[in-house]
Amino acid sequence: MDFSLTEEQELIQQAARDFAQNDLLPGVIERDEKQLFPKEEVRKMGELGFLGMMVDPKYGGSGLDTVSYVLVMEELSKIDASSSVIVSVNNSLVCWGLETFGTEAQKEKYLSKLATGEIIGAFCLSEPEAGSDATSQKTTAIDKGDHYVLNGTKNWITNGNSADFYFVIAQTDKEKKHRGINALIVDKNMDGFEIGPKENKLGIRGSDTHSLIFNDVKVPKENRIGEDGFGFKFAMKTLAGGRIGIAAQALGIAAGAYELALKYSQERKAFGTEICNHQAIAFKLADMHTQIEAARHMVYKAAWDKDNGKDYDLSGAMAKLYASQIAMETTVEAVQVHGGNGFVKEYHVERLMRDAKITQIYEGTSEIQKIVISRSILD
Ligand SMILES: Cc1cc2nc3c(=O)[nH]c(=O)nc-3n(C[C@H](O)[C@H](O)[C@H](O)COP(=O)(O)OP(=O)(O)OC[C@H]3O[C@@H](n4cnc5c(N)ncnc54)[C@H](O)[C@@H]3O)c2cc1C
Repeated sequence: MDFSLTEEQELIQQAARDFAQNDLLPGVIERDEKQLFPKEEVRKMGELGFLGMMVDPKYGGSGLDTVSYVLVMEELSKIDASSSVIVSVNNSLVCWGLETFGTEAQKEKYLSKLATGEIIGAFCLSEPEAGSDATSQKTTAIDKGDHYVLNGTKNWITNGNSADFYFVIAQTDKEKKHRGINALIVDKNMDGFEIGPKENKLGIRGSDTHSLIFNDVKVPKENRIGEDGFGFKFAMKTLAGGRIGIAAQALGIAAGAYELALKYSQERKAFGTEICNHQAIAFKLADMHTQIEAARHMVYKAAWDKDNGKDYDLSGAMAKLYASQIAMETTVEAVQVHGGNGFVKEYHVERLMRDAKITQIYEGTSEIQKIVISRSILD
């Protein structure tokens, strides 16, 4: 076993750390408060190659491995989980889904623009009545020969307003249940496509979450991913990889909060000594450090599984379940270590605590991860 990173992976990790410190940190409190999308920061992340990290260089991507991707996700999430979710959706769900299952024509048309950040993408599965139960799709894509007619509403779509490219999952044949679902590429400028109001969220407030409404949107057949009826499988396969990115986001949020708590505990004095010298605080730090290290091993292992052609459904689900759980626990404790200062925005830990919660909800709630894990071990 070799637990060390390659020189290239270390360089990428450092580049992400520098970018997070220099470019994400300065405006992060304002973006969170005012719900501002990090437009300029996304442009720079495109230049740095963070938006198409695993895409083949022939399509304008960075051609890197999943381990490098999780290293970047971890570093960005230490500072700004609103920016890292954009990176996660674009890399894991949009670029990976398109590169793995798209036709050559679809890749030529969209992939290089997505990989370089010229455009960003969104992944639209959830609906008002289809969240965890993603088979209950009410959005319909009716087959009209050379095109589909799309009708329905999608909920909670990350990059909802900022994207130009949308993977939309919809039911074509109800009789065939999940085998009658298709995944279609929808362009923002298609007639009948409306963007609903922005959600006012607890956390990741800089990210742009909207409902989307489709009214008789005509989508050409060449925009379908895979064979007729492949849409549900496409969504599940794509989300299995997406979970590794969200697990890395949770890990980064936890590690960011821990680093702040460690520093604060070495500076803040109470009862004549730095608070880290009180065992109650030192033991919190010990627990945080141990849990983060365990989560890190799980996240890197899931990424390694993906890179090495191994099954990653189980390792990805376990990594997301555990990393999101410790992201909540660590951020709550980091606020506690900061005392009253933990409760105000300037010290960053309250934002990390709010941001941590979403990692237990999206791309499969913790309960859904336990279903995936238990099915896998009982199978
Ligand atoms: C900020 C944000 C961004 C998002 N981004 C996207 C996006 O880009 N694209 C997209 O498609 N979706 C997105 N989502 C949607 C997200 O994936 C769903 O919210 C999530 O899958 C849960 O679905 P739900 O909200 O309908 O909850 P429900 O499915 O109604 O679940 C409610 C509760 O019941 C539990 N539950 C449900 N079924 C079971 C079961 N069988 N056993 C045990 N417990 C169960 C759940 O775990 C949860 O605790 C986003 C959501 C948010 C909040």
